[in-house]
Amino acid sequence: MIKKILVANRGEIAVRVMRTCREMGISTVAVYSEADRKSLHVRYADEAYFIGNSPSNESYLVIDKILDAARKSKASAIHPGYGFLSENAEFARRCRKEGFIFIGPSSHSISTMGDKITARQTAMNAGIPVVPGTNREILNEKGLSGIVKEFGLPVMIKASAGGGGKGIRLVKNEKDLKSAVRAAKSEAMSAFGDDSVYIEKYISSPHHIEFQILADKFGNVIHLCERECSVQRRHQKIIEESPSPLMTPGLREKMGEAAVKAAKAVEYEGAGTVEFLVDEDLNFYFLEMNTRLQVEHPITERVIGVDLVKAQIHIAAGEPLMYKQSDICQLGHAIECRIYAEDPFRNFMPDPGLIRHITEPTGLGIRTDGYVYEGYEIPIFYDPMISKLIVWGIRRGDAIDRMKRALYEYKISGVKTSIPFLKNIMNTRSFIDGKYNTHFIEDNLETLIKPGTECGATCEDMSVIAAFFDYMTKIKMFQSPAQSVITPDGWKEYGKRKSITRL
Ligand code: ADP
Ligand code: ADP
Ligand code: MG
Repeated sequence: MIKKILVANRGEIAVRVMRTCREMGISTVAVYSEADRKSLHVRYADEAYFIGNSPSNESYLVIDKILDAARKSKASAIHPGYGFLSENAEFARRCRKEGFIFIGPSSHSISTMGDKITARQTAMNAGIPVVPGTNREILNEKGLSGIVKEFGLPVMIKASAGGGGKGIRLVKNEKDLKSAVRAAKSEAMSAFGDDSVYIEKYISSPHHIEFQILADKFGNVIHLCERECSVQRRHQKIIEESPSPLMTPGLREKMGEAAVKAAKAVEYEGAGTVEFLVDEDLNFYFLEMNTRLQVEHPITERVIGVDLVKAQIHIAAGEPLMYKQSDICQLGHAIECRIYAEDPFRNFMPDPGLIRHITEPTGLGIRTDGYVYEGYEIPIFYDPMISKLIVWGIRRGDAIDRMKRALYEYKISGVKTSIPFLKNIMNTRSFIDGKYNTHFIEDNLETLIKPGTECGATCEDMSVIAAFFDYMTKIKMFQSPAQSVITPDGWKEYGKRKSITRL
């Protein structure tokens, strides 16, 4: 029995993990950096431990500090969330060595799948089709033209330790190959502390389709169907949906089997994701495996009806899977939009800062996984993603309509967000028709970065108007009759006179 879990993360994912713990009657421990003193995950947890300065390499990435907090709090298990130490094999090893349950796979699975070259080799040995490419690190510039002859241009140069869309370079002309390899190596070194790169054939116009898997300690492995993640900017997902509009029952079965095989090949335990590229002729290729909970896991939770964090905790506690493959079926359609504090109309510049006002969408078929609140200041030190908006509809079209409604209801002022950009995507023909691939954003960028004019005013205009009214009310320029008053039963009413109790 796990009684207390330390969540070695911050932001929305830390809150999301703690919510499930609360439902399961498990106490929660937060860790936080200087910049996160007022963060929601700290308020939500039963206990919280300060672990250092704001930069993550002085706090969330320091294994000793996390383990110290775990010891002090007497937590029995550690959940790594995603990002940070979640795919660090050494962290998993240290947690276990020091007597904690690590809620994730073995460090062997993490190191095999965390390195893209060994992951490709493992998948090939298991008989899974992989993106054609080199199976060894590119050590020098010799032999590059031979490689290009074998696969044909364009090719992708990729960092073996890469993640989050970083460390990927497209090469279209042979003359650029050498300099691209050199640049990729130094980029990989500074981003991941590892300069190994390899080459993959460039799959033109692919779909990114991934399979969620669950595996217990007894060798049972199932897949929970697919997520379509082709709406990407700079190789990073922005919108995900399940089922994939491209999927057929036959392809789902084949890809699902391949995903299960990949997990079995590394004796996987816990929740994981096997990513594939699918070309126009529906050929699929193994891309990588993420040995953790994925950002977009809620769409699977919605269409399959499984709490993936709960499943992770049960598996880590040594319980067998609660489901067989034949129990799994998809109901309806789910879409997730990642909401970032950034300005889509100024080259997606991050825009952290004070949240002046926030109204989140609610109602039938809507879930928001976030962590910001009114008066909270988004720190500059971390990923600018502030929340995820997940909607469900019985058919894909209903889900899109609901996403449009939810994005309309979502009001955030104080910082710029990607909401207007997401609204534009929901109104783009190829997205509505489900006919898009990983080039979608690039192909439609011009129309997508035009500010919307909903209600005759842009979102920025609306926040200026809201701020103006707020200011005028504060300096008492606006008086009755149109005052905002609170009735004794708490309902806000407008236009009433002072006869009602005024707070
Ligand atoms: P990938 O892009 O690696 O296939 P995901 O789509 O699940 O996988 O994205 C994970 C990415 O989320 C990380 O690589 C990182 O850029 C970002 N991230 C990491 N930690 C956090 C966090 N606490 N809050 C928001 N985003 C994060
Ligand atoms: P990361 O670890 O950063 O998530 P991935 O290997 O999963 O890296 O690739 C991220 C994205 O980059 C893919 O979803 C796809 O859009 C693009 N990509 C990667 N490799 C290729 C390839 N060989 N051909 C075409 N697109 C690719
Ligand atoms: Mg990936």
